[in-house]
Amino acid sequence: MGKTRRRRPALPTPRAALSLARAMPKQLSRADAKTLFARLAEARPHPTTELEYKNPFTLLVAVVLSAQATDAGVNKATKALFAVADTPEKMLALGEDKLGGYVKTIGLWRGKTKNVIALSKILVDQYGGDIPRERAALEQLPGVGRKTANVVLNVAFGEPTIAVDTHIFRVANRTGLAHGKTPLEVELGLEKIVPAEYLQHAHHWLILHGRYVCKARKPECWLCPVADICLYTEKETGEQKPAKPAVKKPTVKLAGKPKLRAASAKKAAKPAKKKSTKKGTAKK
Ligand code: SF4
Repeated sequence: MGKTRRRRPALPTPRAALSLARAMPKQLSRADAKTLFARLAEARPHPTTELEYKNPFTLLVAVVLSAQATDAGVNKATKALFAVADTPEKMLALGEDKLGGYVKTIGLWRGKTKNVIALSKILVDQYGGDIPRERAALEQLPGVGRKTANVVLNVAFGEPTIAVDTHIFRVANRTGLAHGKTPLEVELGLEKIVPAEYLQHAHHWLILHGRYVCKARKPECWLCPVADICLYTEKETGEQKPAKPAVKKPTVKLAGKPKLRAASAKKAAKPAKKKSTKKGTAKK
């Protein structure tokens, strides 16, 4: 029996290849990534978290409380809390009700309060009140996901991790540093492109850049120190966009009646349907 010849997959036509290339988001080169971090580092030589904490435990609690809340709001609540409970043992002694009293100004505080008490108990029972340094162990704690674990590993223990939050996700995708549809995709992309010497603080440089310059709604590209490198195609110029003129709907004047909008006039002009007088035609 003769061999069946397999057909080679057809190569895309030059036109199809070109449109494919256009659709693919562009990736920043390694050289440009290095320049980008050099400039961010120059602008903020000592970046750090804006969450206030006293030790690894209070950092962990602050990060758990900060989910979907602002750092400023969390700091306001934790100032008094950490003065009375800065260890897992003290947090357990404080109890859920009193903890709730300190953090009830923070969104989703009921669930977060339960998590803080539950994680404090695990830390006391299983780790002698210490904070584990392994990501897997941290992720086992209630209310602690990959992002929180990465923040604790980076800030408390100096590990070169990148915790992708909403700001980093946006900046990485816009600039072309790392594209991804999920925080994990972006995190893995950043780990590949961030030069080793900037990995330790990359997390903070990107957060602060996203928070104060590359803002979600209107990035301040005209002030941005990396605007010439960034691959975002819709950069803002800082100029006020002219407001759209209000479109006035045409009005129609019916004889002897006040002016009506076109749609209302059409309705008014329509003759009313005659009610059926036939017996037995009415719907039940
Ligand atoms: S140029 Fe604009 S989009 Fe690009 S990083 Fe700067 S602020 Fe963000």
